[in-house]
Amino acid sequence: MGLLYLGTPLTWDEAKKYADHVRFHGITQFLNTWDRLKDRHGDELLWGDEVEYMVITLDDEEKNATLSLRQTEILAQLNTYVEDICGDQPDKHNSVPKFHPEYGRYMLESTPGSPYSGYLNDVLSVENNMRYRRLLVRKHLRHNEIPLTITSYPRLGVLGQFTEPYSDPAGAKSSHSMFLPEEVTNPHARFPTLTANIRTRRGSKVAINLPLFFDENTPRPFVDPTIPWDRALYTEDDEAKNGAALPDHIYLDAMGFGMGCCCLQLTFQACNISEARRMYDGLIPIGPIMLALTAASPIWRGYLADVDCRWNVIAGSVDDRTEEERGLKPLDSSRFKIPKSRYDSVDLYISTDRTNRPEYNDNTLPYDASIYDRLREHGLDDLLSKHIAHLFIRDPLVIFSETINQDDNTSNDHFENIQSTNWQTLRFKPPPPGSSIGWRVEFRSMEVQMTDFENAAFSIFIVLLSRAILCLHLNFYIPISKVDENMERAQHKAAVQSERFFFRKNIFPQGSSPSSNSSSSGRSTPQKREKRLQNCFGPPPSLDGESLDQPIHEEYAEMTMNEIINGKDAFPGLIGLIYLYLETLELGDEDAQKIERYLDLIRKRANGSLQTPATWIRDFVRSHPEYRFDSVVSREINYDLVKAIDEIERGIRRADSLLPSDYSPIVV
Ligand code: ADP
Ligand code: MG
Ligand code: MG
Ligand code: MG
Ligand code: MG
Ligand code: MG
Repeated sequence: MGLLYLGTPLTWDEAKKYADHVRFHGITQFLNTWDRLKDRHGDELLWGDEVEYMVITLDDEEKNATLSLRQTEILAQLNTYVEDICGDQPDKHNSVPKFHPEYGRYMLESTPGSPYSGYLNDVLSVENNMRYRRLLVRKHLRHNEIPLTITSYPRLGVLGQFTEPYSDPAGAKSSHSMFLPEEVTNPHARFPTLTANIRTRRGSKVAINLPLFFDENTPRPFVDPTIPWDRALYTEDDEAKNGAALPDHIYLDAMGFGMGCCCLQLTFQACNISEARRMYDGLIPIGPIMLALTAASPIWRGYLADVDCRWNVIAGSVDDRTEEERGLKPLDSSRFKIPKSRYDSVDLYISTDRTNRPEYNDNTLPYDASIYDRLREHGLDDLLSKHIAHLFIRDPLVIFSETINQDDNTSNDHFENIQSTNWQTLRFKPPPPGSSIGWRVEFRSMEVQMTDFENAAFSIFIVLLSRAILCLHLNFYIPISKVDENMERAQHKAAVQSERFFFRKNIFPQGSSPSSNSSSSGRSTPQKREKRLQNCFGPPPSLDGESLDQPIHEEYAEMTMNEIINGKDAFPGLIGLIYLYLETLELGDEDAQKIERYLDLIRKRANGSLQTPATWIRDFVRSHPEYRFDSVVSREINYDLVKAIDEIERGIRRADSLLPSDYSPIVV
């Protein structure tokens, strides 16, 4: 989440008066950064993960597992602990993990104390680092509390008690939800304000309808008996019966259902802005692939869903677009018709590389023309100007009266206000003023995994893939509308098994062969004993002669997940590409074996020999003795599920369909 100010947040009616002010100064702030740092070059690979947890309270007598709302206390204790270790030695802070608040009052986020470097030992320390962070969290919980890395809480928003302590949804003054009490939201002013201002700007509650998974005994048609259809407490209460809640669906009506989910995110620092833009583009088509592979959220508000992922729920949960913006009414008081929520997949490839053909950017792209012109006049190129001017069609949602006027030379808060509330699959992060940080790219589509072994495996897979993209000058471009189609497919039940995904067929630079070894690029450091993932690869090989471009529709095909990851015929698969990259490093056996443990998980997920967490969770529910094959995940089933996940993570329960047979909770 963005920075947290202590201050007085404005209601939407007040805040909207400052929207142009925030946008104008936000752009000024960005341009100041641009002027200072556009030519910055030579930054090292630094990178880091963000892991989100839910804290669960177990009641063994009642067989209930509920969300513990003690975030504030737990974070205070964790931070006191960190202070105690570090004392007055500021450099020690770099080695002690960082813990952050999140939207849900039952959530925590952790990051490494300082980013990882490109040294292989550091890359291979990720699992240890994540386990240490989880251990620290565990140590600061009560005896009946556990941290779970689970993407969606199965019983968030059910009738009865699902938080500890219990709170009544009647008091949900920010969201007006029928299901989620005010108390599930982080009490810091930013979060209730964000919730209320999204609802007010939109003109109704958010409305999400997930297709229900119909089991043998699920009534058809399904009209949810747990919705308080006739509640009359808030003006929005009649929305459900007036069409917001669809039959045969699981209806969700509040920001907390989406922003209360956990995910796994990765941030990479690039060598310079142009490599950051290349990495950003290269990872765009990877977003939906990794969403499908990490799928972990098949249960919502106590029901099995026919989808496996959180994505559309979060997109819907912060969809602040007016009816005009959503295209339901002709434009009158809104400025743009906007196809997507501010939380969704990215709409524009931004690299200036020649391989980025204009035809790939085939999504409708509303952008603020005056901001675009201002950026162009300042010397920015077309694509980056469009990228920023597209992000800036959004209004700032939370404004604190104390920070309306800022020094645009030293602050980037107005820029970040808009930037950090565009929650997209990738985020292009400019360097913050007054820091030594370079241009970064954040990869944001993945669902959090139940064990740190899996979270580390996906982190290492993406860092290696990002190296392969840059080093081998890979070309993953397909029309961005096809990436969006993949996002939809990725969320379907068991998508890894049953879906095909659009992917580019020839991913090597034109004219080069798959075996071409690019060890000549970048700086090699043979004198260093420890292997290192480089960060500067330079521009792609120059292409002489005329273009070899094919018609776009011949460049890609629909492939299975197994083909995309493990390859088929001449197509090497993403793991094959990682091996090609690893060859350039000339690793010793020991390092290669350590990496292999992680790649093997990805390989087996993709070929179906290991399950996604979503499939595993769904199977757990459907084989539970209390399950009545009616789609309902009862209190008791949920309790046993939570216990099982915790036991798997601690290595005292086996899950051979989920984890490799040699999985051990002890780090090797
Ligand atoms: P946000 O919530 O804005 O996405 P966080 O601060 O929670 O960001 O997490 C950012 C991640 O980036 C952390 O894992 C952190 O270690 C890592 N990181 C910090 N500095 C750099 C850097 N210069 N380059 C790359 N990653 C970095
Ligand atoms: Mg987070
Ligand atoms: Mg974070
Ligand atoms: Mg942050
Ligand atoms: Mg993040
Ligand atoms: Mg969508």
